[in-house]
Amino acid sequence: MPKVELHMHLEGAAPPAFIRGLAREKNIDISGIFDADGGYVFRNFDHFLSVYEAACQPLTGPEEFRRLTLAVLEESASHGVIYTESFISPDFCGGGDLAAWRDYLAAMQDAAREAEAKFGITMKGIVTCIRHFGPEQAKTAAHCAAETAGEFITGFGMGGAEMMHRPGDFAYSFDMAREAGLRLTCHAGEWGGPDMVADTIRDLKVERIGHGINCIKDLALVDQIAEAGVVLEVCPGSNVVLRAVDGWAQHPIAQLRERGVKVTVSTDDPPFFKTTMTDEFDMLAKTFGWEEDVLMELNHAAVDAAFCDTATKDNIRAKLEAA
Ligand SMILES: [Zn+2]
Repeated sequence: MPKVELHMHLEGAAPPAFIRGLAREKNIDISGIFDADGGYVFRNFDHFLSVYEAACQPLTGPEEFRRLTLAVLEESASHGVIYTESFISPDFCGGGDLAAWRDYLAAMQDAAREAEAKFGITMKGIVTCIRHFGPEQAKTAAHCAAETAGEFITGFGMGGAEMMHRPGDFAYSFDMAREAGLRLTCHAGEWGGPDMVADTIRDLKVERIGHGINCIKDLALVDQIAEAGVVLEVCPGSNVVLRAVDGWAQHPIAQLRERGVKVTVSTDDPPFFKTTMTDEFDMLAKTFGWEEDVLMELNHAAVDAAFCDTATKDNIRAKLEAA
């Protein structure tokens, strides 16, 4: 089945073998972030963030990001993904320097074009600031985003450690991105409670929320989200591995959907969580008895909420219908 994904971090999707090979080429020792089977290993969410940053060390320039983008898109396409929105960060691509960022971006866009021709997958980029780097650095990321908004960079968002700072601290950055014509999403309600989700929607005026699952603890908020048409980028496999939920059976995605919230499904950082879009769909089918019509509904919800132009959406819908 073809699949549409809205929430995947480019570096977080880096195949471990690719990162190991790159580290060897550059004589960087990051052997401590891998387990005996060669996968990424971490203890909890904070440790995950530091392992993530260590895995980024061999990604030293635009050429490395060109290779990364190609490797990631080939892997996604092998799981039937025909459209993907990937979080990319100026903090990992030139440290927030605009000229450097443009070089990285050109390399990634070049790889995206190649992947589209070779593997039939379309990628759009969402520039992300990193919450635990603070509101000042977020402005630098937002500036990079605003200056490069266009056909490839279509959105702006924020990831990182959710419990640091409040959403309103980043309003300046989100305003700047919005004024540049970018569409907005933000991680919230993965670790934070319903108040974090509500504040994010109110203060950052986002149309999508990354995760958002903890809104389930306030049903009035769930109804508001459904009413407002705010879309959740739900990543169940990620939530299970990081223990944001107790297990697949306890995941609130089915309850959210039944209450009228527009839910979509993504992998977040697939090799870190030992998941793929195939696994996500399989586990949803197995856990909640969702058949093909429901899974296709998730795909259509993702296309509707995608941060791309109408022609691209029409093209993806045609591919879904042909399947
Ligand atoms: Zn994420």
